[in-house]
Amino acid sequence: MPELPEVETIKRGLENNLINQTISSVQCHRDTLRHPIPKKLDTQITCKKMIHFARRGKYILIGLNNQQTILIHLGMSGKMIVRPNIDGEPIVKHEHLTLITKEGQRLSYIDPRRFGMIDLFKSEQTHRLLSKMGPEPLGDEVHQEFLILHLQKHLQHKKQSIKVALLDQHIIAGLGNIYVCEALFLAGISPLRESKTLDKDEIKKIVGSIQTILTQAIEAGGSSIRDYVHANGKKGYFQMQWKVYGKEGGYCSNCLTKQKKSVIKRVVQTGRSSFYCDLCQK
Ligand SMILES: [Zn+2]
Repeated sequence: MPELPEVETIKRGLENNLINQTISSVQCHRDTLRHPIPKKLDTQITCKKMIHFARRGKYILIGLNNQQTILIHLGMSGKMIVRPNIDGEPIVKHEHLTLITKEGQRLSYIDPRRFGMIDLFKSEQTHRLLSKMGPEPLGDEVHQEFLILHLQKHLQHKKQSIKVALLDQHIIAGLGNIYVCEALFLAGISPLRESKTLDKDEIKKIVGSIQTILTQAIEAGGSSIRDYVHANGKKGYFQMQWKVYGKEGGYCSNCLTKQKKSVIKRVVQTGRSSFYCDLCQK
């Protein structure tokens, strides 16, 4: 599933390729994905200029010059590809929405498993799916301080494991399984730890680790173990060198540097695999 770094990379790609372009035609090839696609999408967005691109959690927002915003989620397998439009070119397999711009670009939304979504809302409002979302994991130093206090407040009475809590989009936005496993390894915190047992220093380490991992991944152009395509259509993902994710049975690289041999373990928590080293992570 595209995670925050992939979505951020796609958002940047769309912005670079489409900012201030005007949508000249909209072709909707099906009525519904995870949720119905708005019926009047084409009439509402045709002839409108795309003036603002943003990301919130794993959602992409495209602000138009009619005070409306297109909201897009890529679900499990969504991709967005921008390429020069060639009139009459057939749609590709699983292409559910095609936007053509006056400037001659073609934006395709492709989603084989159809868990994604496309919606439209008034820019002055907050979409219902975004209204209860926790804070963004990335930001400046002030935001970092805020995040530490925010997590302290929300974790202090939670018996839930820290791994499961960090995947909860109401607590913190945009984190998925891979990055949470890697961030907890970097922080030296076990995914099995009860959230309420974490002290402020440990939460600080977790926040710092999340930011380090996400920033590295964004710099690398996003990464995913699934097939993933950049906004410009180039196969652009960088396979990050995961330290623990998917490494079950292998030796922990951190322990090896200390002449210790510890095997990476896998445990299933609320249906998702967690990978960790029980020597490094307490
Ligand atoms: Zn280790």
